[in-house]
Amino acid sequence: MSSREDSILFTPIEYLKGVGPQRGEMLRKELGIHTFGDLLMHYPFRHLDRSRVLPIGSIPDSGDFVQVSGRLTGIELIGERRARRLVATLQDSTGSLDLVWFRGVGWMEKYLKLHQPYLVYGRVTLFNGRPQMAHPEMDMLTVANADGKAYLEPVYSSTEKLTARGLSGRAQAKLTRQLLDTLPAEWPPENIPSRYLARYKLMPRPRAYRCIHFPPDESVLKEAIRRIKFEELFTAQVRMCRLKLDRHRHSRGWPFEQVGEQFNRFYHDHLPFRLTEAQKRVLREIRRDTLKGRQMNRLLQGDVGSGKTIVALLSMLLAVDNGFQACLMAPTEILAQQHYEGIKDLLQRLGTEVDLLTGNIKGKKRRALLERVADGSMPLLVGTHALIEREVVFRNLGLAIIDEQHRFGVQQRARLWEKNTLPPHVLVMTATPIPRTLAMTVYGDLDVSVIDELPPGRQPIRTVHRTDRRRGEVMSFLKTEISKGRQVYIVYPLIQESEKLDYENLQSGYEVVKAYFPEPDYYISMVHGRQPADIREANMQRFVSGDCQIMVATTVIEVGVNVPNASVMVIESAERFGLSQLHQLRGRVGRGADQSYCILMTGNQLSREGRTRIQVMVRSTDGFEIAEKDLAIRGPGDLEGTRQSGALDLHLADLIRDRSVLEVSRQAAEALLDEDPELELPENRCLREYLISQTDKNQWSKIS
Ligand code: ADP
Ligand code: MG
Repeated sequence: MSSREDSILFTPIEYLKGVGPQRGEMLRKELGIHTFGDLLMHYPFRHLDRSRVLPIGSIPDSGDFVQVSGRLTGIELIGERRARRLVATLQDSTGSLDLVWFRGVGWMEKYLKLHQPYLVYGRVTLFNGRPQMAHPEMDMLTVANADGKAYLEPVYSSTEKLTARGLSGRAQAKLTRQLLDTLPAEWPPENIPSRYLARYKLMPRPRAYRCIHFPPDESVLKEAIRRIKFEELFTAQVRMCRLKLDRHRHSRGWPFEQVGEQFNRFYHDHLPFRLTEAQKRVLREIRRDTLKGRQMNRLLQGDVGSGKTIVALLSMLLAVDNGFQACLMAPTEILAQQHYEGIKDLLQRLGTEVDLLTGNIKGKKRRALLERVADGSMPLLVGTHALIEREVVFRNLGLAIIDEQHRFGVQQRARLWEKNTLPPHVLVMTATPIPRTLAMTVYGDLDVSVIDELPPGRQPIRTVHRTDRRRGEVMSFLKTEISKGRQVYIVYPLIQESEKLDYENLQSGYEVVKAYFPEPDYYISMVHGRQPADIREANMQRFVSGDCQIMVATTVIEVGVNVPNASVMVIESAERFGLSQLHQLRGRVGRGADQSYCILMTGNQLSREGRTRIQVMVRSTDGFEIAEKDLAIRGPGDLEGTRQSGALDLHLADLIRDRSVLEVSRQAAEALLDEDPELELPENRCLREYLISQTDKNQWSKIS
């Protein structure tokens, strides 16, 4: 262990001079600052530029944050009770400005001194034609800060409670300054090998930690921030890559030595279309992974409709050719059913058997199937999460494929590994596109493949936004499409299948649709999660087979359902769906050669975020772009896997905004581990010690 790092940076915060037990408790509770190191990493969220002071007469009308200085020429309490406010007038030689407080009025009134000079920072708004600032930051101008010398003062987040306990942002700055003054000059110790410091022109660590708090100027501040972001992303990725290397080395797997008859016959005689280049590339990647005698853990990303299923099927045949069983797990009954039907059709002439296992298959039929799985006479099995139950025992499972993994937890994935004496290869397929670098960072334990090409001949789906007022128009458009022999989905938000209100929405929506499209000219089927599975299945089937033209449904159809003849997707109350969900739903159409449409219905009133989502959908059909927008709106905290992964310890860096740093640090991490996977070289020692010192990331304690 790097004992020096422990002894200083891990020192409990209450031992810092000026803190003590009570304030220590406050810092822990309010800001999560437990140690000296935490305080160092409690970065200012901005800096006040004390050198840039605008003449009051020249401040812009509204909107901007500005800094002004002047004397208070009036302080006045106005209004009664809840309307009570404090107004102070600030004047310099060019004009005057009102400063207003609605909260903390009494305290402010005592604090402000008439005729004193102040440095004031805040956002200017126009009130009754006069510029004013509400709740500005006030500083009495003293000799120390009035000398005109440029300096940047750190501003830290604080809370009312903290301020009451004398731990305002300013007080925190003082503590940080004091901590930095007592730290040895080479602290905190460097954790990026000097070669990389030089290559990426990074500021040394001790200087960066000083300058991010107390920079001499803007450009140094920028460099300090860049250095620390790099450090966070670089060390996180080295850690991730190390985990992956470790896994590769230790996880033995079944070698699939040959490409055999099943694969070749299917590929050459029964493939219903030519594979896209992207599909071929992914197959080669899977082939390479499964050849080596180590376990494959691969994430296959491909936008909706990019053709992941056929890749899955070919991979399963590869397993069969090598004497193994394979299974494909889907998140819903409907999807499992559909995969099963589709695969059965494709394999019919090949004579390879496949069966379906879901919770609905019971009794004798189930027992018989489980027996055939156990004795190995059933080579391929499609199913729901019923597949991972203990009672499902394979004779020799070599490959497990998980479709649409965002419905499956990491835990469940791990349970698959126990299905054989060596863990089977695992292929996780998802249509939720995650920007590539992000995926490599977040799903660090998985190798990533991407199908970045749609099958040829697809026309981009046309997406429009319509408000309820134009419902009649939309309905007649549907009629036109149906008259051409097309089919139509109408989807209602049912975020919680149990929510009564949502259910009523669906029911009344169904009635409305029915009024527009009466039998016997039209047939409508309805599908939702509250139906017994067999009824849902039957209704689904009616749509798949073309017996009805319209499907009214909830998001149960979101994932995977494949009806190429369906050309219109109407999404009701579209503003209530998230972006990735909208994209998934839209992906249900545009699967054939015909022009397809997606109609997003909303009310007239939209929240800003709702409007943004709709606009993104109308503008783009690119799943990756949409995923990026989604991340930008929601933040990566919501991204599947980000939270569980827990391995990303980011304070300053942002996976979206700092993409360029992420890329560069990724390259650096890979280059370094290529050369020195065990971090044994003396020059990489500093990094190794840093990683070991992060004891809570326990994986690393192994290598010490
Ligand atoms: P997803 O990636 O969303 O699971 P699917 O595997 O369901 O996509 O494929 C979508 C549709 O595209 C299916 O109808 C499938 O038969 C078809 N398809 C897949 N690959 C190709 C290809 N290379 N050429 C033409 N059609 C293809
Ligand atoms: Mg699919």
